Amino acid sequence: MASSSTSDAKQIKVLVRCRPILEHERSHSTDSIYLEKESGLIRLNTRQGNTKEFTFDNVFDGASTQELVYEKGEFSRTVEAVVKGFNSTVFAYGQTGTGKTFTMEGKQDIQKRKEGAGEGPSKSSDVGVIPRIIHELFDRAKKKHGDEVKFSCSFVQIYMEQSYDLLQADMGRLRSARNNRPSSSRKPALSSRLKLRWCKEKEFYLENMSVFDCETPDDMLHRFARGVGNRKIASHRLNMQSSRSHSIFMVNVDMPSEAAPGDRIKSSLMLVDLAGSERVGHTGSNSKKELLRESVFINQSLFALRKVITNLASKRRHVHIPFRDSTLTSLLKNSLGGNAFTTMVACLTPSDTFYEENLCTLEYASRAS
Ligand code: ADP
Ligand code: MG
Repeated sequence: MASSSTSDAKQIKVLVRCRPILEHERSHSTDSIYLEKESGLIRLNTRQGNTKEFTFDNVFDGASTQELVYEKGEFSRTVEAVVKGFNSTVFAYGQTGTGKTFTMEGKQDIQKRKEGAGEGPSKSSDVGVIPRIIHELFDRAKKKHGDEVKFSCSFVQIYMEQSYDLLQADMGRLRSARNNRPSSSRKPALSSRLKLRWCKEKEFYLENMSVFDCETPDDMLHRFARGVGNRKIASHRLNMQSSRSHSIFMVNVDMPSEAAPGDRIKSSLMLVDLAGSERVGHTGSNSKKELLRESVFINQSLFALRKVITNLASKRRHVHIPFRDSTLTSLLKNSLGGNAFTTMVACLTPSDTFYEENLCTLEYASRAS
């Protein structure tokens, strides 16, 4: 990581996005949220006529396109930071069904169709933050460093504080192809468990995590789409809903240093789709006891993330940042705080049925801003 600050602007940026009311919700819910894009004001209204107000860097309503969110959310700043050698993180927070995946990935059927067609998702209007960031990152880094810049990626999910490799199966296939051997007849694990380790040089890392070199944005988006697919199948096999796990798509850039010719600098970008923030949700066939255990673990990571973000946003100096409190925050340690640039997208549903959940999300988000 480079040593000077990214810029004098804020290191943590908070956006709030409220999705539109969906067709099937129309009959039983009314829009309970009032937004003012210019001032960043957001007001929650209860059926009883109570209101709560918050203000954020940017607020987006249901009519805001993916393109607008990317542009006004200043995701180019994230790209710029990474190309300068600073680590960055983008994460989506909110209750299940509020649009975290829609914001990060884009519309899911698009993802699937593109994967089926054997090509990475392009810049169609429905694609989310991740594909847009990847395209811009390749563009900018190649303009600056030409062929000297190298990109790689990994994709993991965290479920009940355990990390799983979402690209393990692909790595196995690649190795077999390189060794000119047919891939083993046993089906490769779609999501194998990884051990969280610590060493002085790398700090926290996942032992034996698959890392893929990528030549083009489409290479990287192809890996991303593969991981998204593996996440769904693996979730099914682990008998869990993917909304109960956190996913982290990790992008690494390795480029020549401008300050010290001959040296190289590395930066990484963590793109995180967090587990649903609801306490205990509806998760299909799991028993009540498992559900409770799950929500304790989910909350452990989300709770730890809140503490980390709150302490980072605090103006007080020398506050302890409890990165070690969860797997999620351990893995994000080098990409949150310090010179890293962080964007949080807090997602809301407009429905008044979820007043409490929306309020929790806004309170969580406001601690970061
Ligand atoms: P989450 O990942 O938070 O559980 P999803 O991203 O899966 O939520 O979104 C839930 C549903 O709402 C999906 O059908 C998605 O397509 C739709 N949706 C979410 N955000 C938007 C939006 N801004 N515009 C239109 N549809 C949206
Ligand atoms: Mg989701």
